[in-house]
Amino acid sequence: MKKKIFAYTMLVLAVLGSIAFAGEFKVLRVVDGDTIDVDFNGQKERVRLLCVNTPESVHPTRAKNTPLGKTASRYTKKALTGKTVDLKFDGKKQRGRYNRLLAYVFVEGRNFNVDLVKKGLSPYYTRYGASKAYDREFKKAEQKAKKQHLNIWNQKNGNTTPSPSLTAALATTLFHGNKNSKVFHSPGCRYFDCNNCTRVFHAKNEAHQAGFRPCNICRP
Ligand SMILES: [Zn+2]
Repeated sequence: MKKKIFAYTMLVLAVLGSIAFAGEFKVLRVVDGDTIDVDFNGQKERVRLLCVNTPESVHPTRAKNTPLGKTASRYTKKALTGKTVDLKFDGKKQRGRYNRLLAYVFVEGRNFNVDLVKKGLSPYYTRYGASKAYDREFKKAEQKAKKQHLNIWNQKNGNTTPSPSLTAALATTLFHGNKNSKVFHSPGCRYFDCNNCTRVFHAKNEAHQAGFRPCNICRP
């Protein structure tokens, strides 16, 4: 209960202030690549992720839905379903069209909005203004995705068939490293979220370079 009051207080502060931490919220449903439903004091709130705009996947006009939209939706589902996330607001405007909360979503300490851009599943979307808090991060992420021709930046294959770079992007799963044993695990492993598994790697070679070895059980 105290936690809920705390979360509520933080949200009120967030609404009054500029960028603020809004507490922890359970993800109820991933609607599509850039929209999620969270539990807010027992009430469902729809959250539109700030500064991103992923291709459509559940648009009422079916022609607008693209394979890349489905890819983005799958990516967000995989990353956020069942998770507890932090929400951060940017500036005074906390709600957008359809009364949705506009927020940055943090999962396991990572800015998921920036992640979408990094994977080339969204451009850095500034139609409603640049990011006050993370402008640099978004720009950097977009540059990187463009350079690697990831997903939306891959013109060679259009949006119809999965490209090699798309397959590569999807294959990039996170790994968790145990800071004591220096062993790293893949997401399916029962030790993935162990107490000491606080190191996060975006690629296997990243883990190897940091002196970690693969787990003998999950064999990442
Ligand atoms: Zn393991």
